[in-house]
Amino acid sequence: MSSQLTYPETVIASLRFQFCPMCAARLIRKVIFDDNLPRITCPACGWIQLSSNAVAVVVVARNDQGIAAIFPPGEEGVGLPAGLVEYGEDPAESAVREVLEETGFEAKIVDCLGWIFINRTTWPGPMIQILYEAQITGGQAKGSDEGAAKLIPLDEFPPVAPDRTGSQKAMQAYLEKYKKVETVQNKEIGFKNT
Ligand SMILES: [Zn+2]
Repeated sequence: MSSQLTYPETVIASLRFQFCPMCAARLIRKVIFDDNLPRITCPACGWIQLSSNAVAVVVVARNDQGIAAIFPPGEEGVGLPAGLVEYGEDPAESAVREVLEETGFEAKIVDCLGWIFINRTTWPGPMIQILYEAQITGGQAKGSDEGAAKLIPLDEFPPVAPDRTGSQKAMQAYLEKYKKVETVQNKEIGFKNT
């Protein structure tokens, strides 16, 4: 089949529809809105392809024994519990759910550490990852498909796996947050920061 449609390079292969998913007519590409961007649309039923960035969460889940790490098989380094936000799901709920699914710990969100954008060219495509900090409130370490899970004290925390950008950024944001808090506290009680 020769494709009449040219998709922007940023659209991942599995989203390059050729036929309307609603009525099976051949799709076309044309400008529809004032933004002047050509979009993929169905000339028969009016369906418009509006692909969204995927949304995911990454969680620094901790208690006084350490931070919950997972050991993904075949990867060099650890990861943090993470996963896609389901359609219609509040990201904070996804975060709590992923911590439980991947580590066995119950947790509650204490802070949002920011977000990052990753321009992925493989499934599920470009992604926004929301970084959370959570307090572990119960449960016990239990692995999943993502590997074994374990609580590790911060000063013994191993390197994060190189492909896990979200876990790396979440750890960075977490460390920076507590460095700042420490600096402020030290100033307040008169310690000298060297
Ligand atoms: Zn259609």
